[in-house]
Amino acid sequence: MLRCLTLTADSDTNKLRDIRDNSQWIDAIEIRLDLCLQQNKSCIASIVDAARKASLSVVILSFRREEDGGKKTELSEAERLDLLEQLLCPGITHVDLEWGVTAPAVEERAAEVGIKVIRSLHDFQGVPAYMTELIVEIAAGGEIPKLACYPSSSQDVLELIQITRETSHIKKKIVLGMGGFGFFSRVAPQLCGSMLTFCSAGVRSGAPGQISPRELEEVYRVSEQNSHTVYFGIIGNPVLHSKSPQLHNSWFAEGRMNAIYVPFQVDDIGLFLRLAEQLGVRGFSVTIPHKQKIIQQVDRVEDAVQSIGSCNTVIRTSEGWFGSNTDYEGFLAPLKRTDILSAGNHALVVGAGGVARTVVYALVQAGLSVTIVNRTDEKAAGLAVEFGVNWQSMHSRLSTRKFELIVQTTSAGMEPNTEIDPLTGYKFKGSEIVYELIYAPERTRFLSRAADAGCRTIGGREMLHAQALLQFEQFSSVYNLEAE
Ligand code: NAP
Repeated sequence: MLRCLTLTADSDTNKLRDIRDNSQWIDAIEIRLDLCLQQNKSCIASIVDAARKASLSVVILSFRREEDGGKKTELSEAERLDLLEQLLCPGITHVDLEWGVTAPAVEERAAEVGIKVIRSLHDFQGVPAYMTELIVEIAAGGEIPKLACYPSSSQDVLELIQITRETSHIKKKIVLGMGGFGFFSRVAPQLCGSMLTFCSAGVRSGAPGQISPRELEEVYRVSEQNSHTVYFGIIGNPVLHSKSPQLHNSWFAEGRMNAIYVPFQVDDIGLFLRLAEQLGVRGFSVTIPHKQKIIQQVDRVEDAVQSIGSCNTVIRTSEGWFGSNTDYEGFLAPLKRTDILSAGNHALVVGAGGVARTVVYALVQAGLSVTIVNRTDEKAAGLAVEFGVNWQSMHSRLSTRKFELIVQTTSAGMEPNTEIDPLTGYKFKGSEIVYELIYAPERTRFLSRAADAGCRTIGGREMLHAQALLQFEQFSSVYNLEAE
């Protein structure tokens, strides 16, 4: 599996720096002429030399057209192809030409120097099915097909995978999906049968969804993925903000397990389950907005999932997909290290969304008296009726004396909207425990205010870690069964 750094820096010095700084995580580089028009033969020679010194096996030269996602240029099409031809030199291993471009001079020069042609197909609107025929045709002509498309739904992702299955006999091909829905293909190129994945250094990304070489290798261990890798993941919409890949992948690496945990952006759970079967995904975490809807889609769930009405973990068993809820135990874990979980204590739960269900259920089970407040009163009232607890309107005066525990379950104050405090007017008395479920940022405005008032505080990372560890136990047992 080749990890290719797209050189996006605007000066030659910075390009050479990017190769040097990232050489331990890459096998290939792509020189994008559209991103730096001042390239001449001596610049290219110094980049090729740096690649050789870094033992990189592949050097791709491309000049992406604007319509294919490249940077706008003043050059005519003939001038663009002329420049490509002039700059082809020994040390460059591949030249990228778009499908439909006729460039005999570039192709002749490439053949003369022994440079292979990558023929790229770009589609920013979706994933057209006719790509299969084009990939087959390109490969039959002795060129390397490269498909870069922009899936914008689970349906598109399913179609992308269909194309990769229909062309699975073509081993030398590059397939990647851009954007959030396509992100999995960048970090798990094996799932698309792609021989290469692109990444970029610094602030400028070569294409939507590219991540740094370091993250690609240190989080997703791309160079180690192979046909035996067992895949797990997380589904959500959006999902790329999730910290779960860092946690699970570090545990898989520590356990020397050939398993990788991948973020999947999903807008249709039924389609994702089909995809998961096709890709061999063996288990996944579930996040916003799928924790409720997934319950109807899996084959079986544990009793707690039925009682809470929320499922955050799914594994593949011999009897189909099985759903459970590790948020419940994960939420309680830091509280069990205090003496708050005794009957008769009063808890205020701020929020009435998905995770609030688990929190209210867990606190009721522990014997606490619970009051819910929420921005939308009707949701607070609905949840309170469902679990037999109290609720109060956000607009009423909340007594500070009443509560020994306050749990903040809303997403208000989460990155990037860190200035929001969901309970602005509330005055902490200082003796209560304040538990914030948001984990990014680590310390919200709400939690800081509680700490300043002298409260004992618990941040969202504690629950995140505890619930993820419980999921990891389930994923590990599936992995071990697979490995037997
Ligand atoms: P959700 O189902 O979308 O619920 C969102 C809740 O936040 C609702 O109560 C909503 O109120 C409220 N809300 C949203 N924006 C608000 C604003 N500007 N002001 C006041 N209230 C606002 O989401 P969820 O699944 O419950 O997750 C909520 C948070 O918990 C997220 O930040 C998530 O990352 C975090 N979480 C953390 C962990 C962990 O392990 N630490 C686990 C699960 C979730 P309305 O009803 O009025 O819309």
